[in-house]
Amino acid sequence: MHITDSIIGDSAIGRGSRRMICLPIELVDSIVHWLLATGRSFSSISAFSLVSHRYRQIALRRYYGILHVQSVRHWFRMCHIKGMSDWVRSLGASTTVFRHKVDFLAHFTSLKTLELDFSDDGLSTQTSRATLLFRNMTAQLKTLKLTHLPCIDLALLSLISTRFPTLVTLELSCTERLDERCCWHCLEESSTCCVHSPIPEAYATTDILIVKVCKALRPLEKLETLLLGIFLSDADVLVRHLERCAAIIIPSPRTGYYSAPPFGPDKCAICHAEHGPAVRERERLASDMLRQLLPSVKAVEFSSWFAVEAPMRVLDASR
Ligand SMILES: [Zn+2]
Ligand SMILES: [Zn+2]
Repeated sequence: MHITDSIIGDSAIGRGSRRMICLPIELVDSIVHWLLATGRSFSSISAFSLVSHRYRQIALRRYYGILHVQSVRHWFRMCHIKGMSDWVRSLGASTTVFRHKVDFLAHFTSLKTLELDFSDDGLSTQTSRATLLFRNMTAQLKTLKLTHLPCIDLALLSLISTRFPTLVTLELSCTERLDERCCWHCLEESSTCCVHSPIPEAYATTDILIVKVCKALRPLEKLETLLLGIFLSDADVLVRHLERCAAIIIPSPRTGYYSAPPFGPDKCAICHAEHGPAVRERERLASDMLRQLLPSVKAVEFSSWFAVEAPMRVLDASR
């Protein structure tokens, strides 16, 4: 698309013989939105941004509306772009990207959505990292998404609810830290580095978990959507799967020693038969209870090994 100031201008006054047409700002904004929809590279809007100072401001505001910081170097570059922090509505990054110039986050006063990846943090650093980052964020966030969390504990929930009281959507997830990409060893190892199933060690029962979670989130009076990416099934479900079901697979002459990739209880016929119906009922009761205790919440979701009734992979126990 070619844009020249003889076609689109930000002034109604003609210059020389060229006729200028003044377009409503909303329409100009929509054009930039359309240009960026075809690809979020700066080249998509570079020609448009050269039309005039005003158009450049509109283009940059749209371009930086969604910012995913790729690296520490990228973050440093962003910190030096004048006015950029005012344009950003949605910010995403790995938490460790902000280990330098963390106080610059306070400049993002228009931020509505924040997505943080905690992959590089562990159980010992999660709380201090979250405290440091949240202290520098605007309190007016509407959507907060934290992924690859080592755990979802009451300290984190209380920190979020006191720091961001206007949240409408809260998504916290831990279970994607379970590593099913390599081998059974890696799956077992990753399961020991996060609290993917807090029942019964952290909370004796589902009811206790829901009551404590709701108490911690009570200040979030506008919360409508809640994702808690933990399993409500007992921690023993994965332990038994690794000890029993994996043991059937590992020595199999058909699959070879430590065949890869491994799989969780969600793809295991034995685990589905043993736990599926009871866990689904537990999840249903927990959702109902949570919506009763937090009336503003319309949608609630948990991680589940048994969300679907039939396993995707049938484990042949007779092998
Ligand atoms: Zn491995
Ligand atoms: Zn199993």
